[in-house]
Amino acid sequence: LSERLGKAFKNITGKGKLSEKNMNDMLREVRMSLLEADVNYGVVKDFIARVKEKALGTEVMTSLNPGQMVVKIVHDEIVALLGNEEAPINYKKTGITTVMMVGLQGTGKTTAAAKIANVMKKKQSRKPLLVACDVIRPAAIEQLKTLGESIDVEVFSLGVETKALETAQKAMDYAKEQGYDTVVFDTAGRLHIDEELMQELSDIKAFVHPDDILLTVDAMTGQDIVNVASSFHEQLSVTGLVLTKLDGDSRGGGILSVRSITQVPVKFVGLGEKIEDLDVFHPDRMADRILGMGDILSLVEKAQEKMDMEASTKSANRMMSGQFTLSDMLIQYEQIEKMGSLGGMMKLLPGMGQMANQIDEAKADNKLKKSKAIIQSMTPEERENPNILRAGRKNRIAKGSGTTVADVNRCISEYEKMKTVMKQMMSMSKNGKMPNMGA
Ligand code: GDP
Ligand code: MG
Repeated sequence: LSERLGKAFKNITGKGKLSEKNMNDMLREVRMSLLEADVNYGVVKDFIARVKEKALGTEVMTSLNPGQMVVKIVHDEIVALLGNEEAPINYKKTGITTVMMVGLQGTGKTTAAAKIANVMKKKQSRKPLLVACDVIRPAAIEQLKTLGESIDVEVFSLGVETKALETAQKAMDYAKEQGYDTVVFDTAGRLHIDEELMQELSDIKAFVHPDDILLTVDAMTGQDIVNVASSFHEQLSVTGLVLTKLDGDSRGGGILSVRSITQVPVKFVGLGEKIEDLDVFHPDRMADRILGMGDILSLVEKAQEKMDMEASTKSANRMMSGQFTLSDMLIQYEQIEKMGSLGGMMKLLPGMGQMANQIDEAKADNKLKKSKAIIQSMTPEERENPNILRAGRKNRIAKGSGTTVADVNRCISEYEKMKTVMKQMMSMSKNGKMPNMGA
């Protein structure tokens, strides 16, 4: 995956403009990447179409190269799809708030129920009751009870003899009696979608009228998550998602599909087996993860660095051969700026490591900005041959760059000095003392 994206970026970074052709290459890789992250095919298709439309209509921002810009658009679009805003539990203003967990077996309903009850109690000053409506396996009830004990939240259960619906009904009576303000229902799951289960859940829903129906989605699940989510949503109209097992190494792209099917927010994220391993959802981080963003960003940066290095080496080589022009100086200045500091770049320039330590950086950077603007205001001819610069031209350049003629003169004399240094180094290197290029 990384390799493929790397190639796409190599083609796209460094080109000044975003053309339809290089963007198509790029988006093809993004599409493959999303499919590999288990995002549903149809979702990917719509998504790519939207990104393309956006990218073509967007001016390339000067601070980003085209590759970075496509990544940014893709990233922002994924964030938008994942839902930008935080989504808390739908607490009732008055009365008992009810939350129902639903999902396939093993996706993490029981664990999430306890984790959420824990947050309600510890962080939201609620008084939650957990209800064991998974009455199919005795072990499931035991599991919830153990979890409840560990967080000091009561678990209501009538054992395996009582049906799930009846358990739910009795639990509501009990909650009223005992003054609980929040009830979290843990329900049964199946390995596959199953009529009987859906009926059971619908019945509970019809009685409880839950304020939230949270579907647990296992981040490790592949493409079939789409069918599962559609079934649950069709039958129960879920109101939120809990994305579990995000501590695993899956990229979790399935959540994009589930989001686009259900259009309901991800309310929580499960990050491990322990009770505390619960977080609110961070769409930004999730987008990074789905895209394999760590890889992508470092690839973009590497490609960019390499390109910069090539430009600067070329220009440095020209300097060494004595053909140092103002254009070369401009390239060097641009490199310096990209490096973030003059000192950092000076260390890379031949023979200037020492000088780098003696520079007042803020002042120098300001001077550098001026010099850049001045050179940019020159014609190509002037850059190649500053000897033609007389008062008239200098005036024009000063005006064009928002500086003064004195600044222009300073810039030119700086250039002359630098050129002299280059010449000296050249003769040094002829004597066999080739300065180390540092790069
Ligand atoms: P249920 O069948 O839907 O109730 O699922 P459980 O809550 O019993 O969880 C099934 C398994 O997944 C258990 O072993 C849990 O410890 C584990 N599990 C649940 N949530 C997470 C999570 O966020 N991360 C990890 N690593 N394991 C989890
Ligand atoms: Mg369970």
